[in-house]
Amino acid sequence: MKRVAVMTSGGDAPGMNAAVRAVVRAGLDKNVEVYGIRQAYQGLLAGDMALLTSREVSGILQRGGTVLQTARNEEFKTPQGQRKGQRRLNENAIEGVIVIGGDGSLRGAQKLHELGVPVVGIPASIDNDIWGTDTSIGVDTALNTILDAVDRLRDTATSHNRAFVVEVMGRDCGYLAVMAGILGGAEIVVTPENGVTMNEIASSLEDAYIRGKTHAIAVLAEGAPYQGPELARFLEQKHIGFEIRLTILGHTQRGGSPTAFDRLLATRMGVYAVELLLSGESGVMVARVGREQVPMPLKDCTSRTRQITPEYFDLARILSR
Ligand code: ADP
Repeated sequence: MKRVAVMTSGGDAPGMNAAVRAVVRAGLDKNVEVYGIRQAYQGLLAGDMALLTSREVSGILQRGGTVLQTARNEEFKTPQGQRKGQRRLNENAIEGVIVIGGDGSLRGAQKLHELGVPVVGIPASIDNDIWGTDTSIGVDTALNTILDAVDRLRDTATSHNRAFVVEVMGRDCGYLAVMAGILGGAEIVVTPENGVTMNEIASSLEDAYIRGKTHAIAVLAEGAPYQGPELARFLEQKHIGFEIRLTILGHTQRGGSPTAFDRLLATRMGVYAVELLLSGESGVMVARVGREQVPMPLKDCTSRTRQITPEYFDLARILSR
């Protein structure tokens, strides 16, 4: 292999740039040219790709977001779109592709593999919902960003005897909410998975008030059955003792400089992905299992979703007393 391409796709995650840098430099180390595809599958279909030199990826290790940009694209979900993508790769003499992204992006990668294009995936998603890997690029940074916000909110909550509802990202998976609850010291956590009702939240916050707590925090995942504003209104009407405030963290938790953990994860995964591709592997995702990196079939990783370890729900409950 003399020329491969890399793209970042789906929701952006801090550490994607560190992975791109690692892919480019690992390629150079093996005398392989690395092309950067801009704006994911959309850019692939438009043939929007260019050689990435070592200098072009310098100074991006610490930057959040993705310098290659990302996009969502419906056409690539069709067989015609996928064949067009393959044709664009051929036109540019690209012999293999590394896709950095979430489960949707990795499903796209699997489709290219099925067409015979050598493909290796790298899991990047702040939700930690990708099956097969202990963690994905961006999870650690997003969690630290959320904790930073929760810690600040607790300071102000304590000063005013307030309870905060903090809404965090996670459409289908409440991993960030559960971890933020445990590590941020929340009274209660609501996720798409755990079925906590608004009445249960009211009771738990009221209980904290009666026990003499000066603050209380409820963490709500974006994908919970009710949204932050609705919950805050409900709690206000319940007169639980605390004044209620709502903070929706939204996209702030996507951005920011990757943590040391995410930089290392992304760097190792990027280098390993190039090694796998050059050794003839295809249709696999780099997975972190324990302290090792291993290839996992993309088909397995994209046909199911990583679930939250049930123990974490117990921890969140036990520690909220
Ligand atoms: P994420 O990768 O963060 O999960 P999405 O689910 O939006 O994000 O997927 C990103 C892109 O990957 C989509 O816009 C589409 O171009 C491509 N993609 C998603 N699912 C498929 C699929 N089943 N087949 C082909 N391409 C897909």
